[in-house]
Amino acid sequence: MANSFAKLARSAELSGRLQVSKEPIENPPYDIHKLGDEVLRKPARRIGKVDDAVRKLATDMLVSMYAAKGIGLAAPQIGVNQQLLVIDLELEDPSSPPLVLINPEITSVGGGLCTYEEGCLSIPGVYLDVVRPSVVDVSYRDAFGRPKRMKADGLMARCIQHEMDHLNGVLFVDRVTDEEKLVEGLNEKGFNRSDVHTIA
Ligand code: ZN
Repeated sequence: MANSFAKLARSAELSGRLQVSKEPIENPPYDIHKLGDEVLRKPARRIGKVDDAVRKLATDMLVSMYAAKGIGLAAPQIGVNQQLLVIDLELEDPSSPPLVLINPEITSVGGGLCTYEEGCLSIPGVYLDVVRPSVVDVSYRDAFGRPKRMKADGLMARCIQHEMDHLNGVLFVDRVTDEEKLVEGLNEKGFNRSDVHTIA
């Protein structure tokens, strides 16, 4: 298993992207932790060397994300305490490469604030409005350790901020300001209001 992954990793390195099928599989490598699980609240550590082990983790996270039909997943959601995110807004397009962000940092925000309905693989079925900056500049390392910068707006800006919150142990429900809708949404799906750490 390790050898075949190493081979795959080398071919990925040559192409500059991870080779992952977007087809949802039945038994993904990782289960996704849910609201109420304390691992989601632990801040993640920076990754030192971006090596095959990190690429294997990113690949397994992508497979787990595709299995759950999500567009973003952060390492703490699978119980791994590292600053690694995967994002793919083009689930239906096999040729569009997913994004892997290692040690991401938001260097500036702009475009004012906007409201958008968010959901989370750790809080399945709950969709609520959250206010965040519209545009973000992000610096990060990619799956091959290359330093990158990007300016993101729209859904991508939203997704990056949501996933980066996970690295700080923050969940989108912590940012929901409509208390009534929050309680209603959580109750409907069997989650507890007491597991939300509302940000004042
Ligand atoms: Zn989430």
